[in-house]
Amino acid sequence: MRLILLGPPGAGKGTQAKLLVERHGIVPLSTGDMLRAAVAAGTPIGLRAKDIMEAGGLVPDEVVIGIIADRIEQPDAAKGFILDGFPRTVPQAEALDRLLKERGLKLDAVVELRVNESALLQRVEARVAQMTARGEAVRADDTPEVLSRRLAAYRAQTEPLVHYYSERRLLLTIDGMMSIEEVTREIERVLSAVVAADAKAARKATARRTTKKGAARRAAASARAAKSARKAAARPAKKAKAKKAAAKKAAQTVSKSARRPAKAGTRKGRAKAVRAGAARGRKAAQSRAAGGKKSAKKAVKARGKTVRRLTKRR
Ligand code: ADP
Repeated sequence: MRLILLGPPGAGKGTQAKLLVERHGIVPLSTGDMLRAAVAAGTPIGLRAKDIMEAGGLVPDEVVIGIIADRIEQPDAAKGFILDGFPRTVPQAEALDRLLKERGLKLDAVVELRVNESALLQRVEARVAQMTARGEAVRADDTPEVLSRRLAAYRAQTEPLVHYYSERRLLLTIDGMMSIEEVTREIERVLSAVVAADAKAARKATARRTTKKGAARRAAASARAAKSARKAAARPAKKAKAKKAAAKKAAQTVSKSARRPAKAGTRKGRAKAVRAGAARGRKAAQSRAAGGKKSAKKAVKARGKTVRRLTKRR
C-alpha cells in the first residue's frame, strides 16, 4: 500500500503514520525526520536545510524530491510506504507522480487529517511538554512564532494539494479532531473500503482479460476446425487429380515400353517381353491409380527392368 498523509503541523500525521506502519507493514517516509537527521549529521543537505527549517519555511523542492527519489528505491519500500510531510507543494506532487509512474507504481490513497487551526497551537505545546518530560530534544521549530509561519506555509503551499488529489479521486478526508484511537479507526475504515474497491476492480479486470482470452482461444479453435474442414473437403479432389495423373503417366509408360521393342525388331521373344512389360506397366498403372507413392515407384522400377531386359536381348 502506498499512502500520503496530508495535514497541517500538529494534525497528528506522525502519530497516525506510526500506527499505520505497524498495522500494514509498510515503511514510514517522513521528509521532516529525514531532514532533521541530515541536519544532525551535518550533511550538505542538512547544512542547506537547517536555517530554512528553523525559520518555519520550506526546503527547496529539488532537495526533498531528491531525498524521496532515493528513498523509494530502497528495497524496504517495495512493500509500500506512507509519506508524511511529502509532497508539500504542487511541484513536489507532480514530481512524485512522475517518480511513481517511471517505476510502474501508483498511490492507493491520500489521507487528509482536517483539524481546527485553533487546536494546533495547543497540540504543539502539549507535544513540547511531553518531549521535555521524556528528556527528548525539543524541535527548534516547535515554538509559537515558528508554528504560525509553518501554518502559513501549509495554507499557501500545501493546502492546494487537497484539490490536487481530490481531482485525482485519491483524497480521503478524516476528522482529525477526534481522539487518536477514533482517528485510527476511521482511517482503517476508509482504507479498507479503498482496498476492497481496488480488489473488486482488479477482479473485474482479470475477468475481462479471462473472457478475452477465452474468446481468443475459442476463435483460434474454430479457425483450426475450419482449416481442417477445408482440407478435408479438398482431399477427395486432390486424390482424384492424383489418380488421373498417375493413370496418364502409366499409360505413357505402357506406350513407351511397348513402342521401343517394336521398333527394335520383330523376334517372337521380344514381342512377348513387350507384351509382358506392357502388362506390368498396366498393372503398375492400376496400382498407382489406386493411390500411393510406393506403387508409382514400383511402376517406374518395372518400366526400368523391362527396358533393361529388352536392351540386353538386342
Ligand atoms: P510538521 O510537523 O510541521 O508537519 P515536519 O516534521 O514534517 O513538520 O517537517 C519539519 C520541517 O521540515 C518543515 O517545516 C520544513 O521546513 C521541512 N520539510 C519537511 N518536509 C518538507 C517538504 N516536503 N518540503 C519542504 N520542506 C519540508
